Amino acid sequence: MKIDILTLFPDFLTSFLEWSMIKKAREIKALDLKVHNLRDWGIDERGTVDDTPYGGGPGMILRIEPVYKALLALNPKPQTLNSKTIFLSPRGKVLNQKKAGQLSKKEHLILLCGHYEGIDERIRRHLIDEEISIGNYVLSGGELPAMTLVDAVSRLLPGVLEKEGASEIESFSPGLKKLLNDKYKMLNEQLLLEYPHYTRPPKFKGWKVPPVLLSGNHGKIKEWRAKKVKIKK
Ligand code: SAM
Repeated sequence: MKIDILTLFPDFLTSFLEWSMIKKAREIKALDLKVHNLRDWGIDERGTVDDTPYGGGPGMILRIEPVYKALLALNPKPQTLNSKTIFLSPRGKVLNQKKAGQLSKKEHLILLCGHYEGIDERIRRHLIDEEISIGNYVLSGGELPAMTLVDAVSRLLPGVLEKEGASEIESFSPGLKKLLNDKYKMLNEQLLLEYPHYTRPPKFKGWKVPPVLLSGNHGKIKEWRAKKVKIKK
Protein backbone atom coordinates (compact mmCIF):
# COMPACT_ATOMS: atom_id res chain seq x y z
CA MET A 1 0.00 0.00 0.00
CA LYS A 2 1.11 3.52 -0.76
CA ILE A 3 0.43 6.45 1.59
CA ASP A 4 1.36 10.06 0.86
CA ILE A 5 1.05 12.59 3.68
CA LEU A 6 0.77 16.26 2.74
CA THR A 7 1.76 18.59 5.54
CA LEU A 8 3.27 22.00 6.29
CA PHE A 9 5.42 20.39 9.00
CA PRO A 10 7.18 17.37 7.46
CA ASP A 11 9.89 17.38 10.15
CA PHE A 12 7.26 16.59 12.75
CA LEU A 13 6.79 13.20 11.08
CA THR A 14 10.45 12.28 10.52
CA SER A 15 10.82 10.05 13.57
CA PHE A 16 7.41 8.49 12.91
CA LEU A 17 8.76 7.10 9.62
CA GLU A 18 11.49 5.32 11.57
CA TRP A 19 9.27 4.18 14.41
CA SER A 20 9.11 0.40 15.09
CA MET A 21 5.99 -0.91 13.40
CA ILE A 22 5.98 1.70 10.62
CA LYS A 23 9.65 1.07 9.98
CA LYS A 24 9.01 -2.65 9.71
CA ALA A 25 6.02 -2.13 7.40
CA ARG A 26 8.27 -0.04 5.12
CA GLU A 27 11.17 -2.49 5.32
CA ILE A 28 9.06 -5.46 4.23
CA LYS A 29 7.55 -3.22 1.52
CA ALA A 30 4.02 -3.62 2.81
CA LEU A 31 3.93 0.16 3.07
CA ASP A 32 5.38 2.85 0.84
CA LEU A 33 4.97 5.90 3.09
CA LYS A 34 6.11 9.35 2.00
CA VAL A 35 5.79 12.73 3.65
CA HIS A 36 5.56 15.81 1.43
CA ASN A 37 5.89 19.48 2.23
CA LEU A 38 2.86 21.31 0.86
CA ARG A 39 5.03 24.41 0.47
CA ASP A 40 6.76 22.67 -2.45
CA TRP A 41 3.57 23.47 -4.37
CA GLY A 42 3.23 27.00 -2.92
CA ILE A 43 1.94 29.85 -5.08
CA ASP A 44 5.24 31.75 -5.07
CA GLU A 45 8.95 31.26 -4.51
CA ARG A 46 8.51 31.68 -0.77
CA GLY A 47 6.18 28.67 -0.75
CA THR A 48 3.10 30.59 0.32
CA VAL A 49 0.16 28.24 0.86
CA ASP A 50 -2.32 30.25 2.92
CA ASP A 51 -4.14 33.57 3.06
CA THR A 52 -6.54 35.58 5.20
CA PRO A 53 -10.23 34.60 5.17
CA TYR A 54 -12.67 36.43 2.89
CA GLY A 55 -15.17 38.25 5.08
CA GLY A 56 -12.57 38.75 7.81
CA GLY A 57 -11.92 36.82 10.97
CA PRO A 58 -8.97 35.33 12.81
CA GLY A 59 -6.40 32.87 11.47
CA MET A 60 -5.16 31.83 8.08
CA ILE A 61 -6.84 29.61 5.50
CA LEU A 62 -5.12 27.02 3.30
CA ARG A 63 -5.44 28.08 -0.35
CA ILE A 64 -6.77 25.71 -2.98
CA GLU A 65 -4.02 26.03 -5.65
CA PRO A 66 -1.17 24.34 -3.71
CA VAL A 67 -3.45 21.48 -2.69
CA TYR A 68 -4.73 21.06 -6.26
CA LYS A 69 -1.20 20.97 -7.67
CA ALA A 70 0.05 18.59 -4.98
CA LEU A 71 -2.82 16.15 -5.50
CA LEU A 72 -2.29 16.22 -9.25
CA ALA A 73 1.40 15.44 -8.76
CA LEU A 74 0.80 12.65 -6.25
CA ASN A 75 -2.09 11.03 -8.06
CA PRO A 76 -2.21 12.12 -11.71
CA LYS A 77 -4.81 9.47 -12.66
CA PRO A 78 -7.10 9.11 -9.66
CA GLN A 79 -9.53 6.84 -11.55
CA THR A 80 -6.95 4.18 -12.33
CA LEU A 81 -5.88 3.39 -8.76
CA ASN A 82 -7.99 2.17 -5.87
CA SER A 83 -7.16 5.38 -4.02
CA LYS A 84 -8.68 7.82 -1.59
CA THR A 85 -7.85 11.42 -0.72
CA ILE A 86 -8.58 12.06 2.93
CA PHE A 87 -8.64 15.33 4.81
CA LEU A 88 -7.98 14.95 8.53
CA SER A 89 -10.60 17.15 10.13
CA PRO A 90 -12.65 17.43 13.31
CA ARG A 91 -15.71 17.62 11.02
CA GLY A 92 -15.15 14.11 9.66
CA LYS A 93 -16.52 10.79 10.87
CA VAL A 94 -14.56 9.55 13.85
CA LEU A 95 -12.03 6.86 12.88
CA ASN A 96 -12.81 3.36 14.10
CA GLN A 97 -11.43 -0.14 13.58
CA LYS A 98 -13.90 -0.94 10.80
CA LYS A 99 -12.83 2.13 8.83
CA ALA A 100 -9.15 1.30 9.42
CA GLY A 101 -9.85 -2.16 8.00
CA GLN A 102 -11.57 -0.73 4.92
CA LEU A 103 -8.74 1.73 4.30
CA SER A 104 -6.12 -1.03 4.64
CA LYS A 105 -7.59 -2.60 1.47
CA LYS A 106 -6.90 0.53 -0.60
CA GLU A 107 -3.89 0.73 -2.91
CA HIS A 108 -3.19 4.40 -2.28
CA LEU A 109 -4.15 6.95 0.37
CA ILE A 110 -3.34 10.65 0.29
CA LEU A 111 -3.69 12.30 3.68
CA LEU A 112 -4.03 16.08 3.80
CA CYS A 113 -3.14 17.67 7.13
CA GLY A 114 -4.77 21.01 7.85
CA HIS A 115 -3.32 23.71 10.06
CA TYR A 116 -4.24 27.21 11.22
CA GLU A 117 -7.91 28.15 11.03
CA GLY A 118 -8.91 25.78 8.26
CA ILE A 119 -8.97 25.15 4.53
CA ASP A 120 -10.74 26.81 1.61
CA GLU A 121 -14.14 25.14 1.39
CA ARG A 122 -13.57 24.37 -2.33
CA ILE A 123 -10.83 21.92 -1.35
CA ARG A 124 -13.30 20.05 0.80
CA ARG A 125 -16.00 20.12 -1.88
CA HIS A 126 -14.00 19.30 -4.98
CA LEU A 127 -10.68 17.70 -4.09
CA ILE A 128 -11.33 15.49 -1.09
CA ASP A 129 -13.03 12.07 -1.08
CA GLU A 130 -13.53 11.82 2.66
CA GLU A 131 -12.95 13.64 5.95
CA ILE A 132 -11.81 11.69 8.97
CA SER A 133 -11.59 12.86 12.55
CA ILE A 134 -9.74 11.13 15.37
CA GLY A 135 -12.10 12.39 18.05
CA ASN A 136 -14.42 15.17 19.04
CA TYR A 137 -11.82 17.70 20.10
CA VAL A 138 -9.73 20.24 18.21
CA LEU A 139 -6.00 19.75 17.66
CA SER A 140 -3.61 22.33 16.21
CA GLY A 141 -2.92 20.36 13.06
CA GLY A 142 -3.71 17.21 11.10
CA GLU A 143 -0.28 15.61 11.67
CA LEU A 144 -1.13 13.63 14.83
CA PRO A 145 -4.44 12.49 13.29
CA ALA A 146 -2.59 11.41 10.11
CA MET A 147 -0.07 9.42 12.15
CA THR A 148 -2.91 7.84 14.12
CA LEU A 149 -4.62 6.78 10.93
CA VAL A 150 -1.41 5.44 9.36
CA ASP A 151 -0.65 3.43 12.50
CA ALA A 152 -4.16 1.95 12.70
CA VAL A 153 -4.13 1.03 9.00
CA SER A 154 -0.52 -0.22 8.69
CA ARG A 155 -0.76 -2.81 11.44
CA LEU A 156 -3.56 -4.46 9.45
CA LEU A 157 -1.39 -4.91 6.35
CA PRO A 158 -0.30 -8.51 5.70
CA GLY A 159 3.00 -9.45 7.33
CA VAL A 160 3.36 -6.32 9.47
CA LEU A 161 2.59 -7.69 12.92
CA GLU A 162 5.09 -10.21 14.16
CA LYS A 163 2.68 -13.10 14.53
CA GLU A 164 0.46 -13.44 11.48
CA GLY A 165 -3.08 -12.97 12.67
CA ALA A 166 -2.10 -11.01 15.78
CA SER A 167 -4.39 -8.21 14.66
CA GLU A 168 -7.30 -10.61 14.14
CA ILE A 169 -8.06 -11.38 17.75
CA GLU A 170 -8.01 -7.98 19.35
CA SER A 171 -10.45 -5.33 20.47
CA PHE A 172 -13.01 -4.21 17.86
CA SER A 173 -11.90 -6.87 15.38
CA PRO A 174 -14.14 -9.50 13.77
CA GLY A 175 -11.67 -12.22 14.79
CA LEU A 176 -12.53 -11.66 18.44
CA LYS A 177 -16.06 -12.83 17.70
CA LYS A 178 -14.72 -16.17 16.49
CA LEU A 179 -13.68 -16.80 20.05
CA LEU A 180 -17.23 -16.51 21.25
CA ASN A 181 -19.21 -19.72 21.24
CA ASP A 182 -23.01 -19.91 20.88
CA LYS A 183 -23.51 -18.95 24.49
CA TYR A 184 -22.09 -15.50 23.77
CA LYS A 185 -23.58 -15.03 20.33
CA MET A 186 -25.68 -12.11 21.52
CA LEU A 187 -22.48 -10.08 21.84
CA ASN A 188 -21.87 -10.44 18.14
CA GLU A 189 -23.08 -7.06 16.96
CA GLN A 190 -21.43 -5.06 19.74
CA LEU A 191 -18.02 -3.42 19.91
CA LEU A 192 -15.98 -6.00 21.74
CA LEU A 193 -12.94 -5.52 23.95
CA GLU A 194 -10.24 -8.15 24.17
CA TYR A 195 -9.85 -10.47 27.18
CA PRO A 196 -7.12 -9.60 29.77
CA HIS A 197 -3.54 -10.81 29.43
CA TYR A 198 -1.07 -11.92 32.11
CA THR A 199 2.60 -12.91 32.09
CA ARG A 200 5.23 -14.01 34.66
CA PRO A 201 5.44 -13.90 37.63
CA PRO A 202 2.36 -15.97 38.55
CA LYS A 203 2.10 -14.05 41.83
CA PHE A 204 3.18 -10.47 42.60
CA LYS A 205 2.48 -8.84 45.99
CA GLY A 206 -0.28 -11.39 46.47
CA TRP A 207 -1.91 -10.52 43.09
CA LYS A 208 -2.38 -13.83 41.32
CA VAL A 209 -2.72 -14.85 37.70
CA PRO A 210 -6.07 -16.64 37.17
CA PRO A 211 -5.25 -20.37 37.74
CA VAL A 212 -6.96 -21.44 34.50
CA LEU A 213 -4.24 -19.66 32.48
CA LEU A 214 -1.61 -21.80 34.19
CA SER A 215 -3.57 -25.04 33.73
CA GLY A 216 -2.37 -25.89 30.21
CA ASN A 217 -5.99 -26.81 29.38
CA HIS A 218 -6.51 -24.98 26.08
CA GLY A 219 -10.25 -25.67 25.95
CA LYS A 220 -10.75 -24.13 29.37
CA ILE A 221 -8.45 -21.20 28.56
CA LYS A 222 -10.45 -20.46 25.41
CA GLU A 223 -13.68 -20.61 27.40
CA TRP A 224 -12.26 -18.28 30.08
CA ARG A 225 -11.09 -15.80 27.44
CA ALA A 226 -14.47 -15.83 25.71
CA LYS A 227 -16.12 -15.07 29.05
CA LYS A 228 -13.77 -12.17 29.67
CA VAL A 229 -14.50 -10.45 26.35
CA LYS A 230 -16.38 -7.28 27.25
CA ILE A 231 -18.75 -4.98 25.43
CA LYS A 232 -17.49 -1.42 25.00
CA LYS A 233 -19.83 0.95 26.80
N1 SAM B 1 -11.20 25.86 12.75
C1 SAM B 1 -11.33 24.43 12.65
C2 SAM B 1 -12.67 24.01 13.22
O1 SAM B 1 -13.23 24.71 14.03
O2 SAM B 1 -13.13 22.90 12.85
C3 SAM B 1 -10.21 23.74 13.40
C4 SAM B 1 -8.90 23.85 12.72
S1 SAM B 1 -7.63 22.99 13.56
C5 SAM B 1 -6.96 24.23 14.60
C6 SAM B 1 -6.39 22.81 12.35
C7 SAM B 1 -6.35 21.45 11.66
O3 SAM B 1 -6.07 20.43 12.58
C8 SAM B 1 -7.61 21.01 10.95
O4 SAM B 1 -7.75 21.61 9.69
C9 SAM B 1 -7.41 19.52 10.86
O5 SAM B 1 -6.60 19.15 9.75
C10 SAM B 1 -6.63 19.20 12.13
N2 SAM B 1 -7.48 18.65 13.22
C11 SAM B 1 -7.80 19.27 14.36
N3 SAM B 1 -8.54 18.50 15.15
C12 SAM B 1 -8.69 17.33 14.49
C13 SAM B 1 -9.38 16.10 14.80
N4 SAM B 1 -10.06 15.95 15.93
N5 SAM B 1 -9.32 15.11 13.90
C14 SAM B 1 -8.64 15.25 12.74
N6 SAM B 1 -8.00 16.40 12.40
C15 SAM B 1 -8.01 17.42 13.25
